[in-house]
Amino acid sequence: MRISGNSAESRDLAYVMHPYTNHIMHQKNGPLVIARGQGVWVYDNQGNAYIEGMAGLWCTALGFGEQRLVEAASKQMQELPFYHLFASKSTNPAINLAEKLVNLAPANLGKVFFANSGSEANDTVVKLVWYYNNARGRPEKKKIIARQKAYHGVTVAAGSLTGLPYAHGDFDMPIAGILHTECPHHYMYAHQGESETAYATRLADALEAQIMREGPETIAAFIAEPVMGAGGVIVPPAGYFAKIQKVLRAYDILMIADEVICGFGRTGTIFGCEQFEIQPDMMTVAKALSSAYLPISAVLVADTIAEVVSQNSGRLGTFGHGYTYSGHPVAAAVALETLKIYEERQILAQVAETAPILQRGLRTYSDHPLIGEVRGIGLIAAVQLMQDRQNRIPFEASKAVAPYLVARAQELGLILRPIPGDVVAFSPPLIISAEEIQILLQRFEAALDLTWKWVQSWPADGKKNA
Ligand code: PMP
Repeated sequence: MRISGNSAESRDLAYVMHPYTNHIMHQKNGPLVIARGQGVWVYDNQGNAYIEGMAGLWCTALGFGEQRLVEAASKQMQELPFYHLFASKSTNPAINLAEKLVNLAPANLGKVFFANSGSEANDTVVKLVWYYNNARGRPEKKKIIARQKAYHGVTVAAGSLTGLPYAHGDFDMPIAGILHTECPHHYMYAHQGESETAYATRLADALEAQIMREGPETIAAFIAEPVMGAGGVIVPPAGYFAKIQKVLRAYDILMIADEVICGFGRTGTIFGCEQFEIQPDMMTVAKALSSAYLPISAVLVADTIAEVVSQNSGRLGTFGHGYTYSGHPVAAAVALETLKIYEERQILAQVAETAPILQRGLRTYSDHPLIGEVRGIGLIAAVQLMQDRQNRIPFEASKAVAPYLVARAQELGLILRPIPGDVVAFSPPLIISAEEIQILLQRFEAALDLTWKWVQSWPADGKKNA
């Protein structure tokens, strides 16, 4: 399969800055240019087919080529291609979508603020938290605690919440007032013999100690993805969120759920919050909200917070936050149609049938000499590669083992995502069929075996890369 060297790619290489690209690999091979898609399949500009095992960036839940979304966009384009939500204006798609989201969300979340990306939604959360506490006369209560390995976006505030070194290095981030607490990954960080429950207790105790060190009167909110995505698909240990929320409540700290990946069925329930009994005061959604056909995101806000914000805005004369494209009518119309399709096609019931095939299928590789852990829930999963699985010794990062596996998978017609720390992530479109999951698993297995052969071909000292 030849994927480099045509002129479209050279043009792309010359003019496009690619996020998160291994610079050296990228210069050598050029990007894979995706030309079209249908269902869970995408095709490059040479006509090669790939299963999109990541739903793009965890987002095209309905797969590619969904005509109803194309028609919803086209109809709305004809009727009203743009109007804004400023200065007491609104549009029907924005109103209807807000109503729909409020109906789907936990009962206390009664107001919706629209934005265009996960990052913008999380930046909005940061501003709302600050605004809310100023309005309540608590100007010192402003710090927000996120977690190491969290991914909340890359804009200045959201990127600061993100707990990954590559999002901070040389960007002068994180900004002041953003703290990070421990990443809840039992396999990597629990003590030997420590149960999930005991580990969760230790993490909650560590959070409480951190709050006490900082001064509880300075901590405003805690933000978490129900399942951490870009940090490595980390499912929290048993009882984790119940224990964390107990601490937060004791110190009047808001709980923010980032549902940008988990929202709308990815984990098997509409929101990841349901899986882990999270009771959020605010929730951010994006990605599967429109199946990524158009950019749109939202912050769902508790009525109690919205009320304070609204009163304060009355006092100041305006609520000084909003984006030109907040609640863009075409994006909102596509999102409404997306949510309608999820319901009509009973996407949750479908995921309940297909998720075990993916999860069980991947777990059959648990004993593979390269694999330390297989983890996941619903249609999100990851395998953790290890140099020495018995002693849990990872590969040196410079060997780039997960990128090697993902490159082999791509040659075999399967798109996956390597995550730093030698994790390979899976997040296929929610519409993936049982048969397509089998193809995905076969191609993954073949790539895994090629990777194992490669690793075995290294010189015995394991130092020099073959
Ligand atoms: N939150 C989470 C959990 C995400 O996974 C992402 C993106 N992968 C974001 C926020 C940021 O979204 P965006 O890239 O649309 O800004």
